[in-house]
Amino acid sequence: MIEIKHHGATSGVTGSCHELSLNMGSDEKRPRFSSDPDLDTIPPPKCPHQGILVDCGLFQGQDEGREASAADLTIDFPIDHIRALVVTHVHIDHVGRIPYLLAAGFEGPIICSEPSAVMLPEILEDALKIGFTRDRHLIERVLGLIRERMVPVPYGQWHLVFEEGGCSLSVRLQRAGHILGSAYVECDARIGDVEERIVFSGDLGAPHSPLLPEPRSPERADRLVIESTYGDRDHEDRETRRDRLKAVFENALADGGTVLIPAFSIGRTQELLYEIEGIIAEASGEVKMGSDGKRERFSSDPGFDWEHLEIVVDSPLAANFTQIYRDLKPFWDAEAQELVRSGRHPLSFDQLTVIDSHEDHLNAVDYLAKSHRPCVVLAGSGMCAGGRVVNYLKAMLGDKRNDVLFVGYQAAGTPGRDILTFGPQGGWVELDGERYDIRARVHQVGGYSAHAGQGDLLRFVEGIPVAPREIRVVHGDSGAKVAFKELLEARVSSRVLIPE
Ligand SMILES: [Zn+2]
Repeated sequence: MIEIKHHGATSGVTGSCHELSLNMGSDEKRPRFSSDPDLDTIPPPKCPHQGILVDCGLFQGQDEGREASAADLTIDFPIDHIRALVVTHVHIDHVGRIPYLLAAGFEGPIICSEPSAVMLPEILEDALKIGFTRDRHLIERVLGLIRERMVPVPYGQWHLVFEEGGCSLSVRLQRAGHILGSAYVECDARIGDVEERIVFSGDLGAPHSPLLPEPRSPERADRLVIESTYGDRDHEDRETRRDRLKAVFENALADGGTVLIPAFSIGRTQELLYEIEGIIAEASGEVKMGSDGKRERFSSDPGFDWEHLEIVVDSPLAANFTQIYRDLKPFWDAEAQELVRSGRHPLSFDQLTVIDSHEDHLNAVDYLAKSHRPCVVLAGSGMCAGGRVVNYLKAMLGDKRNDVLFVGYQAAGTPGRDILTFGPQGGWVELDGERYDIRARVHQVGGYSAHAGQGDLLRFVEGIPVAPREIRVVHGDSGAKVAFKELLEARVSSRVLIPE
């Protein structure tokens, strides 16, 4: 039996962990593989129970009433038969439980894309420092173990995970366009002469997002496990998003306020920097081509001094990942590569300041709250549930000169969701046990989430030449999952289910 199980991301958007296993004990009644009676004389394949995990992520926020607790960290399912872990991408809700998986005795390889192999130890080091231990020695030991176990596999290449007793499992990673290194996983499972292609989408990116090429549909999927974070809505197109982003920055330029963008360190921060560089370059007229094909300097916005807009990335982790993004240019999309060839530096431009130390961070919060310098600050965490963004929020929410701009999904129960819900009505939010009134303007721009919208998800499914026999909708709020399930049922012939 080829079996799919889910150990997370079925009641919300976090804690992604799925299992694909081959299960056929020797005493089990042999399934009929063929209609040819002669074949029945061939002994049945003897397949020990074995399988893989796809992702092993951390629960965040309170997904659908789920209280985040230490119990969420434990690996509460059997792993003796798990031969490998496949990582779709390095967001913490997909990899955060890896140290606990190792602690539970997992001894197999960690299969991931080449860029993910560069990023995984970095993200886990940070996660370990925050949630696990301050013991440097212990952290190094865990990281050493993870580095030893990692098996980077190039995109588009099959990799055999196991082959034994007539049973085998191979995996292939394909670009998912979500963050650098992100992949969807194609699995070829075989028991005797029964074979099946199962595809796990991981998180899929939106087409036309900056920096990364968009995902292409799988060539085949008998069963598909697909995320549905934005299964109930579409994003604004890139031009609209960019215009709205620009309009918010103009607020800051007009009144010397700060635009605070809570952003995930990996993915969104780099996408935004890329977009901000483009907005500034265009608005300050640096990159317009003259009719003779030469660069011409002119200002399209004479009212604003775009060159004085300061961009601050306040996060050592984001700074680190921005550097990794810069180093991994071969994985950028054609548009970004073209910009680099034309002499632009989309992820390292003049107005960009990176804040590393905690002391500099506190000084920056203090300075920006008092100064009247137009500034854009990107700080984590993306859902305001912790991290440096909290200090900025405390200092800035009460001042109407400031803007808070959400670019990513805000899970239920996070301060980010509360600010988004109550901010526009002049409400308040609780941060570290205290109430803060929200006078700053609150905005949401939907496309920089690095997640595919409903239409993109549908295109991904409809692009598979033969509709999957079964589609499992996971990784979304229940409303999003139900909406996407209904849409799929109307559009494809597959059996669609939402696993519990
Ligand atoms: Zn993700």
